[in-house]
This record gives sequence, C-alpha cells and structure tokens, in this order.
Amino acid sequence: MHDIGAELARAAGMTTTSGRARAGSAARTRKQPFDIDAVLGRIRHTIAETGVADAAMFALAAEGYTSLFEQLVACIISIRTYDETMLICARKLFARARTPEAIAALPVRSIDALIRQSAFHEAKAAQIREIARRTVSDFGGQLPCSFEVLTSFKGVGPKCANLALGIACGETRIGVDVHVWRVTNRWGYIAAPTPEQAMRALERKLPKQYWVEINRLLVPFGKHVCTGRLPKCSTCPVLEMCRQIGVTEHR
Ligand code: SF4
Repeated sequence: MHDIGAELARAAGMTTTSGRARAGSAARTRKQPFDIDAVLGRIRHTIAETGVADAAMFALAAEGYTSLFEQLVACIISIRTYDETMLICARKLFARARTPEAIAALPVRSIDALIRQSAFHEAKAAQIREIARRTVSDFGGQLPCSFEVLTSFKGVGPKCANLALGIACGETRIGVDVHVWRVTNRWGYIAAPTPEQAMRALERKLPKQYWVEINRLLVPFGKHVCTGRLPKCSTCPVLEMCRQIGVTEHR
C-alpha cells in the first residue's frame, strides 16, 4: 500500500518522522490560514501522483456502472463495509443482474448470496430487491433523479442519495461519509458532531465546485493519510494549514 503522505514528503524533500508523535509540536504552532482551494489542490495532486485506488463508487462509475440504480445499489452495499469488499460484491451482483428488471426477478436469497461478504447482507438484499421492484412498478424501470424518491427507500439515507445523485445525475451534492466527516473536522474547517450535521455545515461553507469531488478526494486521503487512528500528520501535505482538532497522537 502506498504511503502517499511519505511519498509527497520525499518529493518535497521533507524529513519524515517515524513512530508516534504528540500533537502540539512545533508544526502545530506554525499554522497558516486555512485555504480550502490550496488544501484540496494538494490532496488532489497527491492522490493523482501516487495512484491510490479511487473512492469505490467513483471506481464503479469508471467501469461503466453509471446508472442511478447501480450507484444507489452500490452505496447500499457499501454501508459498514470496506470499499474493497463492496467492489467485489457489487461486481458479482451486477455480473448477474444490473437493471431494476433483472434484480427484481431474482429471489432475495440469490441477491443475498451474491453480496454475502458485505455487512448486514441479508437486510441489504431485501432492500435492494424492493428498490428494484418499486423502480419497475412505480417508475417504469427508470429511477428519477430525486432526493425525495431515493430517501423514501428503506436503507437509503442522505449520504447514499447525495453520492448517487452526484455521480449518476451530475447534481451538485455532498456525500458525507466517515472519512469526509473526520477529515473536515480535524482540519477545523467545520465542527460537526455527526455526519448529518457535517453535511449541513459543508453545504453552508464549502464552495459548490467541490461538493461532488470532496468525497472522491477525502475517501482515499482518509484511508491512507488522515487515518482514524494515528493519522500521518508528520508527512501530511496539508499539515501547516490543518488545526489537527482532536488529534492527540500521530505518525
Ligand atoms: S489531522 Fe494530520 S493527517 Fe489529518 S489532515 Fe490534519 S495534518 Fe493531515
């Protein structure tokens, strides 16, 4: 796995720190004003340079799974499930059936078998089949690009609705998952105790040009640099602008 923070540090000629460090060191006292354009630009550059895996739903879109139905189903599979596992399950399911008509024709147990590696697969299988059935019966087989319609389905919350609408329908929406929530709070860019509150805070503050892209950037960044435990602050490309809120130990 790439250490993209370390790679960027090497490219910039920075000295890297091994082992754990206490936050509050010299780096913390030399902070620059937070500039969202610069921060996202550095993260975009780092991700492009190091070639880490794309956020899972964007990766599926790049493979041709671009319909709103496919994106919504993929997001349901991704709940409480690692990206890598979600991708395996989604590809298996879509290889067997990828349209609402085809999935509605499958028994729930068959869908369950195909997505069995994901968390809560039994409940998800029932939800996916019901979405497929209603898409056929209520919408002629074509899901409308409607937040209200998507969130009316059991198992679909604002995160999945926004991500699917942003990727499949080209709508300007913010998909706040655990990575987007954690990283933007650590920056000190927002102070939101829940992902739902983070979504509303970001809608008030984040320039619209980044609403869809922020998920694509912060999912790999949160997995490889600003990790849940021991974030790699010492080699992070945005260290001097990040307030490291809540970070007590880092690498
Ligand atoms: S908390 Fe550390 S790793 Fe995360 S963005 Fe800030 S400096 Fe980077």
